[in-house]
Amino acid sequence: MTAPQPRPNVAEIPPYVAGKPPVPRPGLTSYKLSSNENPYPPLPGVVEAAMTAVERVNRYPDMGNTELYDALAARLRVPTDHLALATGSVALIYQLVQAFCDPGDEVVFAWRSFEAYPIAVAAAAATAVKVPVLADGRHDLDAMADAVTERTRVVLVCTPNNPTGPAVTQAELDAFLARIPPQVLVVVDEAYVEFVRMDDPVDGLVTHARHENAVLTRTFSKAYGLAGLRVGYAVAPPSVAGALRAVSLPFGVSSVAQAAAVASLEREPALLERVAALVAERDRVVAGLADAGCPVPEPQGNFVWFELGERTLEFAAAADEVGIVVRPFAGEGARVSIGETEANDRLIELARRWR
Ligand code: PMP
Repeated sequence: MTAPQPRPNVAEIPPYVAGKPPVPRPGLTSYKLSSNENPYPPLPGVVEAAMTAVERVNRYPDMGNTELYDALAARLRVPTDHLALATGSVALIYQLVQAFCDPGDEVVFAWRSFEAYPIAVAAAAATAVKVPVLADGRHDLDAMADAVTERTRVVLVCTPNNPTGPAVTQAELDAFLARIPPQVLVVVDEAYVEFVRMDDPVDGLVTHARHENAVLTRTFSKAYGLAGLRVGYAVAPPSVAGALRAVSLPFGVSSVAQAAAVASLEREPALLERVAALVAERDRVVAGLADAGCPVPEPQGNFVWFELGERTLEFAAAADEVGIVVRPFAGEGARVSIGETEANDRLIELARRWR
């Protein structure tokens, strides 16, 4: 008897390799630097809001996410119908591809970039068009614009780019958008936007106001430190935001996640102080790595990228030995999150000894 078979594209879906947790080693505190998480736990007021919501989890969440939509709309100064919430910004990427692509339609994105992109594309039976990043880890926006065809429905721009680190400038994004046909959706994945410190950074909200085909995706997982609660949002023209809401899972964003996200927005200055501390740590790590003879592409997120080729797994094993867990991409390189001071010190020390 033949068992029920999923659609053929399901077999083509590449695996998502999540960052490993540390292996406990006697006498050595290990640090997880493999998932670009925020090393700070949530603020006490955020924990309190989440706990209060936990007391009512016998009830479904507010399906309209009213309080969180209102808080975000006030914070971003956009109408609520320009917003769509989801269980992490990764869900928004899936939903965008699902809502805009028929099987065989093309989705253009840089590579290497966020590993969920090819997964989301394969899950929708769409076709991934991967445009190699430049030698310095930047998007090759010219080549990406050249890669757009009549079948292209979505272009994903990851800025800062996970895992290589650099971000695009507003001038680069504007020039790129000018080349993209208006019927093609351009998704600007700003998961790490709060960590950007550069000249002419992308102003996502201005981009949103100017371009009918631009969508921003953002998350509470990184700067706001709520990765475990799964909440992200898109800022998009109402037709796109409406499509995202239409394909979303009913009650997807839990009541606990909604409460913690609202409480985080109320405490944004304190959270952004932590982001500033992580950026300072990032600068210290970059200087330490340069001094160690291991320069990295300009990191604008909360992580650094080592291009290591065939020695990637060796580097990851050496990192394990000193109690830091990194994210290797075999044959390519390793991504290492900026974490606790001690963890960052160990990374610099490892780089010094790395030959
Ligand atoms: N975009 C990028 C570029 C990411 O690196 C990540 C997480 N690693 C996400 C989106 C998804 O984050 P989340 O689903 O936690 O919001």
